[in-house]
Amino acid sequence: MPLTARVRPEQADALLRDALEANGQRFTDQRAAVYRFLLGTTSHPTADEVFTAVRADIADISLATVYKALETLVSCSLAVKLSYGDDSARYDARTDDHYHSRCVQCGQVRDVPGQVPELLPQLHVGDGFRVQGYRVEVIGLCPACAD
Ligand SMILES: [Zn+2]
Ligand SMILES: [Zn+2]
Repeated sequence: MPLTARVRPEQADALLRDALEANGQRFTDQRAAVYRFLLGTTSHPTADEVFTAVRADIADISLATVYKALETLVSCSLAVKLSYGDDSARYDARTDDHYHSRCVQCGQVRDVPGQVPELLPQLHVGDGFRVQGYRVEVIGLCPACAD
């Protein structure tokens, strides 16, 4: 269910407050600013990019605080962390099942519109492996890099 994809900014604080409390965490302005920014973007930003954006509103926020806030959102299931085996983890406030395309040149990550390719549910993974889901990543060149 595309729950967070439809969250309006004015709902964000209440949603965040509930999720934090349910996980024994405190609501802070920093966490709220990070969550609001993440909800408002489809760019799948890195912690650095979130830091740069949020610093415009909260001048004294640190990168470490932003990083911890992002990890807190992930632990409360309000965001998903996309890891690429290096330092370039990205964050996504869209937590419904969806898939990404990633440009191998500039690193841009976008949501792939539409549903799971129909073939996937028919995959046979092997002896006794119980499939719970799929992580699909399409790699290639974004329009700007393909030129
Ligand atoms: Zn690109
Ligand atoms: Zn996404």
